[in-house]
Amino acid sequence: AGLLEIEVTTTRAGDLPELSTKLMMNVGNPELAFAQSRIPNQGVGLARMEFIINRQIGIHPRALLDPASQPPEVRDEIERRIAAYESPTAFFVERLVEGIGTIATAFAEHPVIIRLSDFKSNEYAHLLGGSAYEPEEENPMIGFRGASRYVSAQFEAAFALECEAIRRLRDEMGLTNIQVMVPFVRTVAEIERVIEVLAAHGLERGVNGLRIVMMCEIPSNALSADAFLDHVDGFSIGSNDLTQLTLGVDRDSALVASSFDERDPAVLRLIEMAVTACRARGKYVGICGQGPSDHPDFADWLVGLGIESMSLNPDTVVETWERLGAAAA
Ligand code: PEP
Ligand code: MG
Repeated sequence: AGLLEIEVTTTRAGDLPELSTKLMMNVGNPELAFAQSRIPNQGVGLARMEFIINRQIGIHPRALLDPASQPPEVRDEIERRIAAYESPTAFFVERLVEGIGTIATAFAEHPVIIRLSDFKSNEYAHLLGGSAYEPEEENPMIGFRGASRYVSAQFEAAFALECEAIRRLRDEMGLTNIQVMVPFVRTVAEIERVIEVLAAHGLERGVNGLRIVMMCEIPSNALSADAFLDHVDGFSIGSNDLTQLTLGVDRDSALVASSFDERDPAVLRLIEMAVTACRARGKYVGICGQGPSDHPDFADWLVGLGIESMSLNPDTVVETWERLGAAAA
C-alpha cells in the first residue's frame, strides 16, 4: 500500500452532523496514518500491533532477545537489520515507538487505542527466526494468542518490550492519547493477571490517564461481562472473532464462509449483553470488528443499541457518517 492508494476526501468533520455514536477508524499502517487522519474521524478505535510489528520489525521478538540461539544465517540477517541500533531489543522497542508514535501523533487530538499483539502462532512463525519458538498448533485461531501469551513464561520477556514502547510514548513523549487494548482474553483470571503484568511494566490503569480496555470477542466475555468489567475500563467488541466463536465458523475457511454473519441473532444477543453491561456501569463500549464497515444495517442496529463508538475501515467512515446523520435528522 502507498499514499497513492488513499482517496483523500474533501469532506471535513465540521461539515458533518453530530452523532450520538463516535466514529473512529481502524488504522494499522504508520505510513498511511497522516493521510488517513485527513478523513473525518474521532480517533483510532483499533491499531493492531501485529501490523506495526510486521512492517516496522519483521523479526520474532524472542529471536531479538536471544540472537545467539539462532542458526548463523538468521543471526547474520538479524545483525544486518539492526546494525543502526544499540542492541537487538533496542531495535524492537525503538521501531515500535516509531510505528505507534506515528499513528498516535497523526491522530493526536483524539484517543488512539493500541491493541497489544495478537499474532497467532502460525503468524509468529513467519517472522524472521520465529519458527524456533512457535508451537505447531492444529487450531492457531483458538491457540496461543492474545492474553494467554502475556502471562506465559515463554512470552513474558517479549511482552515486556511491547509494554516498554507504550510506556515511553505515554510517559516520556507525552502521547497520553494512547490507550491500551487487550485482545483474546479467555477467563477473568487471565485479565486479572494481565492487568498485574501491565502494571509491573509501567502501564498502570488510571495512572497518567491510562485507560485499559478489553476486546469482547469470546462468548465468555459477553456471558460474564460484569466479572471481566471489574478489571478494565470497558469493552471493544471484536465481532470477527465473536462471530467465528459463537457460530463455530472458521474465519479462514472459504468452505464455511457463507455461514459467517455478525447479524445472526445469537451474535446480536451476545453483543446486546455486552453493551448493556458496560452502559449499566458507565464503562466504555465500542466495536472494532469488520461488521459495521460491511453491513450498514448492522451499524444502524449498533447505534440504536447505544454503542459509544464504532471503529470503521477508513474508506467507509464518510458514507456511514452521512447515512447515520440523515437517519437521525
Ligand atoms: C475482531 O476479532 O473482531 C477483531 C477486531 O480482531 P481481529 O480481527 O484482529 O481478530
Ligand atoms: Mg479478534
